[in-house]
Amino acid sequence: MDHATTHVPFAIAVHGGAGAIRKEKMTPEKETQYQERLVASLQVGFELLDSGRSAIDAVCKAVNVMEDSPLFNAGIGAVYTHDGGHEQDACVMDGSNLAVGAVAGVRHIRNPIDLARLVMQDSPHVLLCGDGAEQFAVLHGMSLEETSYFDTKHRRTQLDKAIAREEEQGKVLFGDGNLDHSSDEKYGTVGAVAMDREGNLAAATSTGGMTNKRWMRIGDTPVIGAGTYANNQSCAVSATGHGEFIMRSVLAFEVHALMTYKGLPLAEAARTAVNDRLGAIGGTGGLIAINSRGQIALPFNTPGMYRGWMVPGCEPSVGIYREDDE
Ligand code: ASP
Repeated sequence: MDHATTHVPFAIAVHGGAGAIRKEKMTPEKETQYQERLVASLQVGFELLDSGRSAIDAVCKAVNVMEDSPLFNAGIGAVYTHDGGHEQDACVMDGSNLAVGAVAGVRHIRNPIDLARLVMQDSPHVLLCGDGAEQFAVLHGMSLEETSYFDTKHRRTQLDKAIAREEEQGKVLFGDGNLDHSSDEKYGTVGAVAMDREGNLAAATSTGGMTNKRWMRIGDTPVIGAGTYANNQSCAVSATGHGEFIMRSVLAFEVHALMTYKGLPLAEAARTAVNDRLGAIGGTGGLIAINSRGQIALPFNTPGMYRGWMVPGCEPSVGIYREDDE
C-alpha cells in the first residue's frame, strides 16, 4: 500500500517488522498492544517534527519507543542468538549530508540507535562493532546494560523451538528454514523514516537480528544501503525482513537508485525494490520509505508488517495485515 499525500510540511512513518503475521493467530489484546505502541512511536516523532526538530531527532526518538517495548525485536525483546545471548545492530542516516552511524553485534546497549547516532556525530567512523563499539559508548558516557535486561520469555521460546527444529532435522537451519510459519513469528526489527520542516530526510533502524543466529552474524540493518539509507535527493528508507536477501539486493539503496536513475516515483520505486529485486531472489520482508514531499510508501511481500504513518491534519494510521490497506 502506498500513501501518496500532497505536499505536507513534515511527516513520519515507522515499522515494527514484517513477517508471517496473521490475523487468525493474533489475539485482540496483542493486536491492541502493537497498535498502541506504533501510535506512541509515531506521536513522539510527530511532536518533535511539529516543534521544528530535525528528522534525525524524530526517527531516533520514535525508534526508542519501540526499542523500549518487549513487543519488538530491538532493545528489550531482542531475539536470542544460538548461544542464548543478544547481539544488536542499528543504523541512522542523515539525508541532508549523507552522514551515517551504525553499530553491529552490541550486547549491552539499551538503545542501540542512540549509540549509532553517537557514532555518526562523535566519531570519525561510520560502523563500529562488538566490544569496540561498547568501549566507544562508555567513553562517551553511555552506561552498559546487564544482558538479562534484554531477556523475554517469548523470545526464549522462539530460540528453544528453533534449536529443537535443528536437532530434529540434524542440520543448521536459519531464517525462513527455521521460522515457524504457523505462529506469528516474524522479523520484528524496528525502524522510522521522517521528513522535517526543513525538508531534510532521515532513516533509523534497530534490531536484535534473527533468532538462532551464530558466528556473530550481522544482518542488513547496520549495512548502509541495505537495511537503511537516506538521501535528500530521493528518499529515506528503513527495511525489515531476511537480512541476507536484503543485503544481496541492496534494498534501501535500490529505492534511491530507481528514483534517481530511472525517475520512478517513490511508491513505484519502493514496490519495485520489494517485489522485483528482493522478491526475485527469494527474499521476504518489507520497507518504509519517504520522499521530500512527505509522501510515504510501505510495501512488503510477507503476510503482514507492523507499520504506521502520520502527517499533519490526520490522525495516526497503523496497519498490521495486508488487508488493512484494502
Ligand atoms: N532484517 C533483520 C536481520 O536480518 C531482521 C528483521 O527485520 O527483523 O537482521
